Amino acid sequence: MAELLYEGKAKQVYLTDKEDEYIIHYKDDATAGNGVKHEQFAGKGVLNNTMSCIIFDMLEEAGIKTHMIEKINERDIRVKKVEIFPLEIIVRNITTGSFCKRLGVSEGVTLDEPIFEMSYKNDEYGDPLINDDHAMALKLVTREELTYIKETTLKINELLKDFFLSTNLKLVDFKIEFGKTKDGDILLADEISPDSCRLWDVDTNQKYDKDVFRQDIGNLIETYKAVLARMEKNNKEINNGL
Ligand code: 5GP
Repeated sequence: MAELLYEGKAKQVYLTDKEDEYIIHYKDDATAGNGVKHEQFAGKGVLNNTMSCIIFDMLEEAGIKTHMIEKINERDIRVKKVEIFPLEIIVRNITTGSFCKRLGVSEGVTLDEPIFEMSYKNDEYGDPLINDDHAMALKLVTREELTYIKETTLKINELLKDFFLSTNLKLVDFKIEFGKTKDGDILLADEISPDSCRLWDVDTNQKYDKDVFRQDIGNLIETYKAVLARMEKNNKEINNGL
């Protein structure tokens, strides 16, 4: 059995016999409110891994450098070893969530331009929102690294918006993470799934993401299965040239 390096809320990271590779294992846990709300949903890890792999493959094909090497099985992926920047990189296309709570603005307003936000990944302080100067003062990232991260994030936003729109879902907002290899390459890391994106149906605005769990407004597994089904239907249509 490989040696466990780190256990997070929804994933485990294992060392491998290769110095520059890790294995990430997806668990069935869902948490919200900095771990205050915590439940297990049988099969969630499989769904998240499956969706995240489809999305990372799409991004790689579009020229985004990611940590992904290969999917090993339903719950495990082999990735390049990176040191994660302790930053949650958030993009907002439509207002909701903490943006509305903090600033008192209405929900569901489409923004003229995407908003780029950063939070300092630090549970003790509740992942506080920070700006570029804070990130540099805390030595979390250099200016050059941040410039690259911002540019890449905005490209990812465009790619993800198109990808989800083709499944009749609007990309409301999302959180991503980047890491650095020992050679200094910056790679998109962690996962992209309905755990980390807000997705609303184009026609009805129904929520197809972790807000169903956060707000107790639906069945998480059925919701995630529905998102995967939309992705797979869309893939089939593309492959059949429809
Ligand atoms: P908000 O700041 O409005 O709560 O979240 C903005 C976006 O970032 C949402 O898509 C949300 O799912 C994502 N997000 C924020 N914090 C976290 C986090 O700690 N974990 C995950 N998986 N996603 C997050």
